[in-house]
Amino acid sequence: MDILYRSTRGGESGVTASRAVIKGLCDDGGLFVPESFPRLNISLDRLPELSYRETAYEVMKEFLTDYTKEELLYCINSAYDEKFDDEEIAPLVKKGDMYFLELFHGRTIAFKDMALSILPYLLTTALKKNNVDKEVVILTATSGDTGKAALAGFADVPGTRIIVFYPKGGVSRIQELQMVTEKGKNTKVVGVKGNFDDCQSGVKAIFNDEELKAELNSEGFCFSSANSINIGRLIPQVSYYVYAYGRMVKGGHIKAGDKLDFTVPTGNFGNILAAFYAKQMGLPIGKLICASNENKVLYDFFNTGDYDRNREFILTTSPSMDILISSNLERLIYFIGGCDPKKNADLMRSLEKNGRYEIDDKMKEGLKDFYGAYAGEDEVFETIDSIYKETGYVIDTHTAVAAAADRKYKAGAHDENRSVIISTASPYKFTRNVMRAIGKENDETDDFKLVDELSAISYRM
Ligand SMILES: *Cc1c(COP(=O)(O)O)cnc(C)c1O
Repeated sequence: MDILYRSTRGGESGVTASRAVIKGLCDDGGLFVPESFPRLNISLDRLPELSYRETAYEVMKEFLTDYTKEELLYCINSAYDEKFDDEEIAPLVKKGDMYFLELFHGRTIAFKDMALSILPYLLTTALKKNNVDKEVVILTATSGDTGKAALAGFADVPGTRIIVFYPKGGVSRIQELQMVTEKGKNTKVVGVKGNFDDCQSGVKAIFNDEELKAELNSEGFCFSSANSINIGRLIPQVSYYVYAYGRMVKGGHIKAGDKLDFTVPTGNFGNILAAFYAKQMGLPIGKLICASNENKVLYDFFNTGDYDRNREFILTTSPSMDILISSNLERLIYFIGGCDPKKNADLMRSLEKNGRYEIDDKMKEGLKDFYGAYAGEDEVFETIDSIYKETGYVIDTHTAVAAAADRKYKAGAHDENRSVIISTASPYKFTRNVMRAIGKENDETDDFKLVDELSAISYRM
């Protein structure tokens, strides 16, 4: 069955997957969603036999139906290779009575590598399939993490160039060095005098400059974006959950068919939405525990049905989750509203105009697959420390938000299911806060030295 894509706001429909990957965003400002959900076409008993790459193929072939088998295998095999420092690509580890799916074994040691490794291949393949005879220029504004992952993903990929804009002085020293030392021949990094919003508005202005677009076009180039709302980033993420399920069965922790919960540290709602899509495919998922930091818009939303971004923006130690507008939530809103583009467009207009919207009781029913939880800064630090003391395993601040949320959910004894905590960054990426949490920070020591010190005291890696 062919899966086609349509806009959450009603503009476009009947769009092939490869076209949706090229476009990224719909013309009406909506997001591309599948017109129907495919089923997983492999029995749960067989999942444990599959490698990460094989699992990714099983998932992606159902969603990206206009890509041929050869094309998908080329994309998957090019993306998930030795640039990951673990053969498993996304290893599942058990620590104490907790399970962690480690998504940080790529080049920038955080989970955005997983999807940004494959997007360049899906995109260049899509251009070829659709006879778009242009070199694609990716423009990306970053507040730190996405920039390096996008640079690493697109570096030296034929037919692409990438320019990243970051706020000069607004990212950490390690993040800046990660970006400016990028060696790819088709990459450029620009430090902007201003903040992240200035970078973002600048990029948008370039995208909307028709004259520039025409000039580029005549020279054989076109613009595209590596933004997280592209289905070329969303769909590959569905594989994490199917793979984790297979590993849980393989390890004897669950039986094929048992329900499994997932706890996901959430910002833009992309990763957890992918889990929801896995559930729609027929994977036996129980609850999806949506973990927020102190910017707990989503926690409030799941508890009240009121999405309200009118509040103070808090800078936390899990910066990749410091977000007040979770763009991918629109895809869930569209779905629980009965796939009604008008209803969705009205709510999104309200969000743009008033910074909030409220869903009706019928839509609230649709949230039953989710459980919203959040962790304050003290809880994040306490969680890193106690897991380290109990197991010797060191987790980063983002993963700690999820681990704390997971504990809260279990303390409420909501169900008997096993749960997997999604681990989105290596502790080595946020070393200072991790070392502070376990009481080993030394103010005198620079960040690079701290990395060595962390390495000496943690049992693994
Ligand atoms: C981006 C990011 C998240 C949040 O993921 P979303 O898909 O935006 O919800 C969590 N942790 C880390 C380390 C990230 O980089």
